Amino acid sequence: MSMKNGICPKCEARAVHLFSGTGAELSIRLGPFSAAGVVYYVCTSCGYVELFVEDREKLPRIAEKYPKVG
Ligand SMILES: [Zn+2]
Repeated sequence: MSMKNGICPKCEARAVHLFSGTGAELSIRLGPFSAAGVVYYVCTSCGYVELFVEDREKLPRIAEKYPKVG
């Protein structure tokens, strides 16, 4: 199950809605004039939220700039 397929992995409801914004609070900073936008997948049944970076070409830059976990 995946939020991207419209099914909530937590409660299994088909109640996933997509929210994407362009404000600074919705992006991962990459530099003074550059950021990776983030989209929100929200389950309107249980309230679970998942975030994804929309532009996959920016993922390597995030990997360079921010520390790896684990
Ligand atoms: Zn849910």
